[in-house]
Amino acid sequence: MSGVKGFLIDLGGVVYQGDAALPGSIDAINSLRQRSIPFRFLTNTTSRPKASILKKLAGLGIDVEPDEVFTPAAAARTHIAEQKLSPHFLVAPQLMEDFQNLETGTNPAVIVADARDGFSYENLNLAFRQLEAGAELIALANNRKFADDDDLICLDVGAFVAALEYASGKKALVLGKPSPDFFHSAARSLGLEPDQTAMIGDDAEFDASAAVKAGLRGFVVHTGKWHAGACKGLDPQPTGEFADLSRAIDALLP
Ligand SMILES: [Mg+2]
Repeated sequence: MSGVKGFLIDLGGVVYQGDAALPGSIDAINSLRQRSIPFRFLTNTTSRPKASILKKLAGLGIDVEPDEVFTPAAAARTHIAEQKLSPHFLVAPQLMEDFQNLETGTNPAVIVADARDGFSYENLNLAFRQLEAGAELIALANNRKFADDDDLICLDVGAFVAALEYASGKKALVLGKPSPDFFHSAARSLGLEPDQTAMIGDDAEFDASAAVKAGLRGFVVHTGKWHAGACKGLDPQPTGEFADLSRAIDALLP
């Protein structure tokens, strides 16, 4: 497609599903490297730290530098320092690795990520009390669902963010996809304008439609959590759809 000079690529449901690479995805990524076509990985995964994501990619044969993977936790780290926040975390214990040696301030904030079993009544209530006491609500992501390692569809962090929003009357600031800032900072790191950048993901709403809303080209692939009818009613509609990552890259290569 004319005008596409670089790619933002989602990970779960696009590059891999569970511990296995999706067919053709590794070759497609390696072909981008060989042709010196710029790309970044842009994931909303908040259940594991970046080091674990890098290790998983290395195990699949994809060597990436830490700054080539954009995660909501990294965006949150920057946001916490810039806004001088004093964070109360409702996240999985393993994600705290990404918040070590954090520069904090005094403005109270509740930081919510995919905490899985950490979403107990007790932990949600502790976060709620912080919000009632004046903390702002920050969500690393607010996706509705994800496809787990066993391919079964699972409840994602969005429902828990919505519960805290409902009870507190506060609106969460979302730092991962679909935040335009998240797409724009990744495109900027490629040295590209948003409209020169193609986002490829399996979430029709938060990857593809949200990218188009942010001024990028947004493509949905028919792997991972995608299902027939996933694009129905989305506004804006994705720029296009492909069977999988390798077919998307073949078709979009500059
Ligand atoms: Mg995905």
